[in-house]
Amino acid sequence: MSAMQRVKVAIEAPQHAGLEAALDYLSEQALAPGTLVRAPLGKRELLGIVWPGEPGSLPEDELKPLAAVLSELPPLDAAWQALVAFASAYYQRSLGELALSVLPPELHKLDARQLALRLRKLHKALGEAPAATAETAPPPSAGQAEVLAQLDATPLATPVLLHGITGSGKTEVYLNAAARALDAGRQALVLVPEINLTPQLEARFAARFAGRRIVSLHSGLTPAQRLRSWLAAHLGLADLVLGTRLAVFTPMPRLGLIVVDEEHDPSYKQQEGARYSARDLAVYRARLQGARVLLGSATPSLESWQRAEEGRYRRLVLPSRIGGALLPRVRLVDMGQQPKDRGGAAMSPPLLAAIRERIARGEQSLVFLNRRGYAPVLHCADCGWKSGCPHCSAWRVFHKLDRTLRCHHCGFTERVPRACPECGNLDIAPIGRGTERLEEQIGTLLAAPDGTQPRIARIDADSTRLKGALEAQLGAVHAGEVDVLVGTQMVTKGHDFRRITLVAAVNPDSALFSSDFRAPERLFALLMQAAGRAGRSAEHAQGSEMWVQTWHPQHPLYAALRSHDFEAFAQGQLKEREAAGLPPFAHLAMLRADAKQAEAAQGFLAAAAERAAALPGAEAVSVYAPVPLPVARVAGVERMQMLLESASRPALQRFLAAWVPALHGLRRTHKVLRWAIDVDPLSI
Ligand code: ADP
Ligand code: ZN
Ligand code: ZN
Repeated sequence: MSAMQRVKVAIEAPQHAGLEAALDYLSEQALAPGTLVRAPLGKRELLGIVWPGEPGSLPEDELKPLAAVLSELPPLDAAWQALVAFASAYYQRSLGELALSVLPPELHKLDARQLALRLRKLHKALGEAPAATAETAPPPSAGQAEVLAQLDATPLATPVLLHGITGSGKTEVYLNAAARALDAGRQALVLVPEINLTPQLEARFAARFAGRRIVSLHSGLTPAQRLRSWLAAHLGLADLVLGTRLAVFTPMPRLGLIVVDEEHDPSYKQQEGARYSARDLAVYRARLQGARVLLGSATPSLESWQRAEEGRYRRLVLPSRIGGALLPRVRLVDMGQQPKDRGGAAMSPPLLAAIRERIARGEQSLVFLNRRGYAPVLHCADCGWKSGCPHCSAWRVFHKLDRTLRCHHCGFTERVPRACPECGNLDIAPIGRGTERLEEQIGTLLAAPDGTQPRIARIDADSTRLKGALEAQLGAVHAGEVDVLVGTQMVTKGHDFRRITLVAAVNPDSALFSSDFRAPERLFALLMQAAGRAGRSAEHAQGSEMWVQTWHPQHPLYAALRSHDFEAFAQGQLKEREAAGLPPFAHLAMLRADAKQAEAAQGFLAAAAERAAALPGAEAVSVYAPVPLPVARVAGVERMQMLLESASRPALQRFLAAWVPALHGLRRTHKVLRWAIDVDPLSI
């Protein structure tokens, strides 16, 4: 028998199973780190990655030989390995789990022969030349030209924060930066927060970069499509990769540019498994690969803003809209001054009047409310019954269209009872309102004297469930077949509506008083983003308005909104954060535990806190008391969390590295269903 070599292989082994992240195998030949292999584990055969480092010292007869080497694929390069190793350590997940979970699911299923077939197909498909006629780039505006010059003058190692209001031409800057990267023979990675935004962006990039290979990567693709895009990127055949957060891990050997559009968007943070921030990893990755990183937003995250203030990022600004269109005028409606009896209507008389005017002029209005369904709860006035969910600490939402009560947390759905389930009262009534009810009310309130109703479209998670529904509804809006568009915040993102001249937030106040310290930041971003949907075409920009109905018109957040002054808002928030010792001035991690009984979850967290106190470096980290999540029980599971805070990121990291391994052992003594650590948590 020929001499076998020992190789270290990362495989998808959850750390909870007590398995090492990388196991040793035997190979007939020496294998470069990053080589993809098939490795036996128990009765299964898994995809693995040869990992650098010294194999262990188990006797050779206890090691298994690899099942196959996927030698048709070049190894994942050192930069990719370093990115994955960093993410694993920083977010406290096992290396094998993280490394394998960011590969396309389809890749896990293929043996060497199947993979070779896919590669042959890919090469054949890529043999057909992409569209050849390129759209010519418009000459840059003065603002864009300046930003591009400053970009050129900024060292690659300095991340760039591009602060530009909606419609200021940020995407055009991305296109220019991408053109430079491509001309220099490099690849570009463009990240967007939402799948829905990729087709639009892809079309724009495809039109500009005719003759270049562009692929997209997001969870809406079929497994085969996703594998194809990934392979094209890894093999260096694709010049441009557009994708959502998962695309940050795409291997790209010639990477020269990473763009993170809407860098403040919470969807860059993965909320399960390895809870990574694709934005933060993009910054790390750019440094690893000597690439430019460009973070863009109209309302940057306060983390990025503060880094720019400290000079660690370079801030570039696009202060005005292309073509000189003005931002919409912001009008606050003081709800305390409005007639009390509006028959339960959500809309104040002046707002209704303003929408009526738009309809008469043939312009469109967008009204949003962040709650879908008809009403958040049904109520019996006789006995006090409310439509609670039996499995969650939440109300079930009344959906009038299909006459159901639905829990938005666990999905539990029943037909609406005809009478109160407690006392038989026939007169059970909805309380509050969601988008369905808003749509109904607007129809009634805006009906002409002869009864003709305005044309209303509703866009929310319910109305867009069917494939193609969103596109159809957006199409109707663009075609001018809609007078009023009603929706959740889904409609406020990214869409380039040309005829909308009025945007209204019906009831945004609750975020002002949320227990989550980031709620105001999110609200401000949402309202600025929403305002950006109005007056996008120069012909309609004149007189465009953003309406906000509020009980707190004096709130500083609304004052800043009124003057479109992100800087003032950011300064105010940062001052508060600094005084309160919150991010970006402190660093957080959250330990969460789920259990059948709240006591068990709490017991686990208390034991974890006890372990924490005994660790070296514990004095640099504050461990707060366990508390239930805002919605404590979901689908019969009790959820608790415990916050950790430190003034020093390295101190917190050192502490977590010592603490998290100790937590695995606690599961034996505490009956929790699962636990997870969330580093830099976004929701508190
Ligand atoms: P943002 O990404 O900041 O919202 P965009 O880059 O999408 O802004 O630009 C807004 C609009 O202005 C788009 O319709 C775009 O095609 C147009 N635009 C951008 N830059 C220029 C330019 N230099 N000349 C002409 N039109 C431009
Ligand atoms: Zn009752
Ligand atoms: Zn429920």
